[in-house]
Amino acid sequence: MKIKRLKDYNILIVDDDPYIIKSITRVLKDAKFKNIFSCKKGPLVIDIINAEEKIDILISDLKMPDFDGIQLIRYLSDTHNYISLLIISGESEHVLQAAENIAVERNINLLGTLQKPIQSTKLLALIKSNKKLLRVQQSSHLGSSIEADFIECIQHKALSVFYQPQIDIKTGKIIGVEALARWHHKKIGVIPPSIFIPLAERLQLINELTDQITNKVLREFPFFLIELPWLTISINYSIDCLIDLDLPEKLEVKLKENNLYARQIVIEITESLITESLIAADLATILDILSRLRLKGFGLSIDDFGTGFSTMEQVSRIPFTELKIDQSFVHGAEQNMIKKAILESSIDLAKRIGMRTVAEGVENSADLEIVKHLECDVAQGFYYAKPVSFEELRAWIVKKNNLVVI
Ligand code: C2E
Ligand code: CA
Ligand code: CA
Repeated sequence: MKIKRLKDYNILIVDDDPYIIKSITRVLKDAKFKNIFSCKKGPLVIDIINAEEKIDILISDLKMPDFDGIQLIRYLSDTHNYISLLIISGESEHVLQAAENIAVERNINLLGTLQKPIQSTKLLALIKSNKKLLRVQQSSHLGSSIEADFIECIQHKALSVFYQPQIDIKTGKIIGVEALARWHHKKIGVIPPSIFIPLAERLQLINELTDQITNKVLREFPFFLIELPWLTISINYSIDCLIDLDLPEKLEVKLKENNLYARQIVIEITESLITESLIAADLATILDILSRLRLKGFGLSIDDFGTGFSTMEQVSRIPFTELKIDQSFVHGAEQNMIKKAILESSIDLAKRIGMRTVAEGVENSADLEIVKHLECDVAQGFYYAKPVSFEELRAWIVKKNNLVVI
């Protein structure tokens, strides 16, 4: 299987301002990208992306006469959703966020959004960050079946688990870890869950995947407890896993086998999926399972909070113990009024109904400062540690005997 190198990708820049086209082209050329195309008029984009030379990355302005960026997103999603999109704009952060939401809703491979004037380092970082996604797409274009490889991986129980520490903001102590699934593909390398979890859901393998991850986590987690007996472990559950009414009992059996207790386990469920299911017919089953998990003593976390449209009334219908604020409202909140307002009101909401708050995406000291100031309980993010393998975390825990990480 031949995989195209990032520098060989065909990049198309669309902007009605020739100066922007010129400056982005220069940045890309300096970074040794060879195949750069440009276009000043929106409608021409359609001709270019339908030409024989396949466009891999599209860098597009949002506001253009004739054919704007939102129309372009719609067109891409209908016809060319293999193209990765990077939105650039002189509009406010709010407008960029709305465009981002539309792109995500329409399943576009969004590399990110950048406000003008464009910083070259940010532009290049976004393009490079998506190398893996592009590689995966490329390999499926070349005929190798990612689906078949994934099925084989599940059959061989070959998924592994990475762990990311969660830190008590007041004490600086590690109080929990989140388990995150990883797929080590023989040819492509590590494939992120953002690619294989939707695949597992589509192939109806998500229950099997979750079962395998849970088994692995419950076997490995007791080793962390030797040094840190108070630790909790958070495991991600897709809403599709909440159809088996016996799940709470099955989990209890697994815990017993590993000498663990329900209070040591936190089940994380994504907010947007809950919002969807609240209007679905199987709501009664979901509420039944979650309520019984809670009664048995499991922690229940509402993940990616802020990305769905939950109301306080909806959140209070499920006995959640923890609210995890999505990283998009945490990282950079200091400089962004909208993020800050959402962060503040989410923490406030959780506190009012007695839930623990976790801030995800704490990447630097400014992010930590703001969540500390807003009296959030727990921080998780690259500032403290990236997700690491079982062996790495084990070594880290043993070495850091004082356990305070600030
Ligand atoms: P999540 O549950 O929101 O997990 C947090 C994601 O944020 C992880 O991505 C983690 O690597 C990343 N992250 C942590 N700290 C930072 C930070 O400071 N900055 C930034 N930018 N990112 C940070 P990852 O591991 O790629 O997982 C992506 C998503 O895949 C997870 O999001 C979760 O929804 C899903 N996922 C992962 N493992 C499983 C699993 O076993 N089952 C299910 N159903 N979903 C899973
Ligand atoms: Ca999670
Ligand atoms: Ca999350």
